[in-house]
Amino acid sequence: MAIIAFIGLGNMGTPLAANAVKAGHTVRGYDISAERRDAAASHGVAVSREVAEAAAGVDILVTMLNAGPSVIEVWSRAVTVMKAGGLVIDCSTIDVESSRRAHSIAHEAGMLSLDAPVSGGVEGATAGTLTFMVGGEAAAFEAGLPLLEKLGRRIVHCGEAGAGEAAKICNNMILGINMIAVSEAFLLADGLGLSHQALFDVASNASGQCYALTTHCPVPGPVPTSAANHDYRPGFAAELMAKDLRLSQECARFAGAETPLGHAASALYERFIGKDGRGVDYAGIIRFLATLKDEV
Ligand code: NAD
Repeated sequence: MAIIAFIGLGNMGTPLAANAVKAGHTVRGYDISAERRDAAASHGVAVSREVAEAAAGVDILVTMLNAGPSVIEVWSRAVTVMKAGGLVIDCSTIDVESSRRAHSIAHEAGMLSLDAPVSGGVEGATAGTLTFMVGGEAAAFEAGLPLLEKLGRRIVHCGEAGAGEAAKICNNMILGINMIAVSEAFLLADGLGLSHQALFDVASNASGQCYALTTHCPVPGPVPTSAANHDYRPGFAAELMAKDLRLSQECARFAGAETPLGHAASALYERFIGKDGRGVDYAGIIRFLATLKDEV
């Protein structure tokens, strides 16, 4: 069994670390937040006071953070103290350029490295059913696979360094657009006197079917586990969705791709978090969309 350190013990990092404990690994962890460290400790994670302490001598280091610069900072410190030839895995959703820089830091230090962002939310992280989208060399993928298979259900090797992030950013552009589309359909149903349950029963068995409807339904009722039934507590916070849509638009500019709906979705999420959406689940965009009619 490996010695593994998890850096970033938030909504996603803690269930990942907890599942690594359940799989029998020796698991250390660090988060800048004392509250998060305490929560992770209750799942059997040996919490450290700093990155270097958590990373010292580990076989594998996993980061689950919010931004590219944090990943680069943590990897820069960790690779100097990990076991020689160890593996660094970043599961955060960050920009492709930062991800590639992180890979070169690991490479220069003689470590194997993967970008392995995830899809499936807190529910999937807890249940161990995440999809991992992985970028990096074949040898690193082979080294990381046994751990990733304990943490997720589907592990896709997407290509070289940064390819996992590219796949994740495209996926989340679909999700952001879909969440707005599903929310608009429920608002239209309200206007037409159609019940939420009736729309759900039809669309979830028809061509409108999608994750934003069937798993993360933005109205209370049809899907008991969705954030809409818990006052839109995240889950996946709206500011993280805004960040991912921002990343999609940076990538679209860089790649010369036309993404008009991605652009519109990004602008709507920015407006939502600029109003009162920060700290609210991304499904809460339906409440923001409902206020737009007052602006006409
Ligand atoms: P979160 O804010 O709950 O967790 C991030 C944690 O990182 C926080 O606890 C924060 O204190 C800690 N942190 C920040 N900088 C740090 C540093 N330098 N050293 C140590 N700890 C640090 O966010 P989350 O929901 O767990 O998401 C993490 C990543 O996973 C994001 O990139 C997000 O886009 C992605 N993601 C989230 C979900 C979801 O449903 N929440 C789903 C898929 C992907």
